Amino acid sequence: GRAIPGAAPGLAAGAARQAPGRGRAVSRIVVVGTAGHVDHGKSTLVRALTGTDPDRLSEEKRRGMTIDLGFAWMRLPGGDVLSLVDVPGHEDFIRNMLAGAGGVDAGILVVAADEGPMPQTREHLAILDLLGLRHCLVALTKTDLVDAEWIALVTEDLRAMLAPTCLADAPIVPVSAETGAGLDRLLAALEQLVRQAPEPVDRGRPRLSVDRSFSLAGFGTVVTGTLRDGGLRVGDTVSLLPQEQLRSRIRGLHAHGQATEEARPGSRTAINLVGVEPTAIPRGTLVSLPDQYAPTRLVDVRLRALADLPHPLAHDLRLQVYHGAAETPAFLRVIGAQAIDPGSEGDAQLRLERPLVLAAGDRLVLRLPSPERTVGGARVLDCHPPGRRRRFADAVSARFADLATGEPTAVVWQMLAEREPCAAERLRPVDLGFEAPERDLALEQLSRAGRVLSLEGHWATDRGWARLRRLTELILRRYHDRHPLRPGVPMEELRGQLRLAPEVMAAVTRRAVEEGWLQREGELLHDPRHSVRFSSSQDEVVKQLLGRFRAQPFAPPSVKEAEAEAGARVLEALVKQGDLVLVSPEVLFDRQAYGELRQGVVDLIQTHGPMTLADMRDRFNTSRKFAQAILEHFDRQRLTRRIGD
Ligand code: GDP
Repeated sequence: GRAIPGAAPGLAAGAARQAPGRGRAVSRIVVVGTAGHVDHGKSTLVRALTGTDPDRLSEEKRRGMTIDLGFAWMRLPGGDVLSLVDVPGHEDFIRNMLAGAGGVDAGILVVAADEGPMPQTREHLAILDLLGLRHCLVALTKTDLVDAEWIALVTEDLRAMLAPTCLADAPIVPVSAETGAGLDRLLAALEQLVRQAPEPVDRGRPRLSVDRSFSLAGFGTVVTGTLRDGGLRVGDTVSLLPQEQLRSRIRGLHAHGQATEEARPGSRTAINLVGVEPTAIPRGTLVSLPDQYAPTRLVDVRLRALADLPHPLAHDLRLQVYHGAAETPAFLRVIGAQAIDPGSEGDAQLRLERPLVLAAGDRLVLRLPSPERTVGGARVLDCHPPGRRRRFADAVSARFADLATGEPTAVVWQMLAEREPCAAERLRPVDLGFEAPERDLALEQLSRAGRVLSLEGHWATDRGWARLRRLTELILRRYHDRHPLRPGVPMEELRGQLRLAPEVMAAVTRRAVEEGWLQREGELLHDPRHSVRFSSSQDEVVKQLLGRFRAQPFAPPSVKEAEAEAGARVLEALVKQGDLVLVSPEVLFDRQAYGELRQGVVDLIQTHGPMTLADMRDRFNTSRKFAQAILEHFDRQRLTRRIGD
């Protein structure tokens, strides 16, 4: 098929994906970015290595330098494939550098031997370091222009410069594109680099940060980028974030320049999309499967300030944030301090002007807008914080410290603390920075240590559970105080106040009852210490009323009379407590009289067999009305059964 620019040109027969397996079944494809000062020979080196001219757009030719990300590929002698992203060195094009570097596995820092390290060499080195790109090598180019002694001096210089960075152990390989000297050693070093670069991981949630988006005759809309964290297939529906509603379908895929049904993570990929214009998919758009990623405007980070800054990074500073091929202005909120000093790390929240689509552990590069310069980098700790953090609070600082360790139990506990009680699945790997099995193991370990507890499949932290208990007790106490005659709070009302889902509320209730700090009667919940309490004036009324019932136990006041005397609430409470027993809508007996009536009926029938209403009336010296009410009540209770009279 035709090659799509942006993905590398088509691989010839025996391409990496189908390389016959001697040793490894499938060869690696590794995306390598070039960095370095302008004119230090990056493009020349890529050309010498691959035979591909990365400066191929006419505009680039005219200006004589690389203006957009160039892509070239090469097969190493061992069968592995290098996909080279030739990032330009000119200050104006720093954006491209970041866009490319966000999607690379390894880096080549190009330094011309005749000039040695220059300002952009340092800035690019800083960016490689901030991105945590540990798999790098340094190509010391143009060695044909200097002598051996000079090379030794420059190498020494470079070593000192690399020492404090993650490139400290990177090999420095002298090379000349002009004479070809050292190219063999460079190839060998590249093979080594490829072998060490981390295997691209399939996490089942592919994402591709679009670095180019264009229309191609015969194809339509094409976007390119490095595919990460999962594979994409032709026919997949994809969402184009952060534009929430924008969806499309994959019509075709090119991975490393070859048409393919499926692109694997780690490959430079071109995606042919259906029914969407290139202008709707600007650089930085994230292509992913629906519902796996969510845009955010607020992010908690661990920030690292570069050592050579003239000023600390102060609270409220306006920065430009770079992530993959995306960028946005943002405000810095420094947590736990007034500022972050040069060369040190600190906790921060970034308030993003335009949303980014992030995952825990992602790296961000931070620059000052004017004059443009890189000031630091950040690692994403929480990409969906609930809101602005309090800047000076022990709990907030503890949270950042825990998340920064990346240690699963610490992270799970903290993530749970802001979502609890919730099901394990709601702690999503994309927010945690590790996968589901590690999460579940962490939950198990925390559970054994008593730091989290399971509520029938929902999890809560020890702290969250204690807080839920305090809150529940507070709500109950206030309710009981306000409604001393009501036996408890309706469960739904309490659930609403606790803002819990129904199934969670049910589990919480069972657990609380088990632990003994909540009691349940039907749909009413109450504090175990609560019993219906009367005020002293009500007490007086109750005493009088109950006195009247006791004075004539079997000819008691009617419901209507009792209500008139004590009020409906008090009467209701007396019935709920069992002091009075309602046998019909009109008739009440006091507790003791009711017991005697019941025992009397049982005795009569046991000793004399069937009885009549008149027997009942005479036995208790009561009226026909009361005898009938109580016997009908006992019938309903299935204590007695009526046969005729
Ligand atoms: P880039 O801006 O880093 O991509 O640099 P280029 O690859 O465009 O090279 C800049 C200039 O340096 C060009 O004129 C190249 O011909 C020259 N150049 C690159 N590599 C070498 C080398 O190894 N030896 C010599 N003598 N010149 C080189």
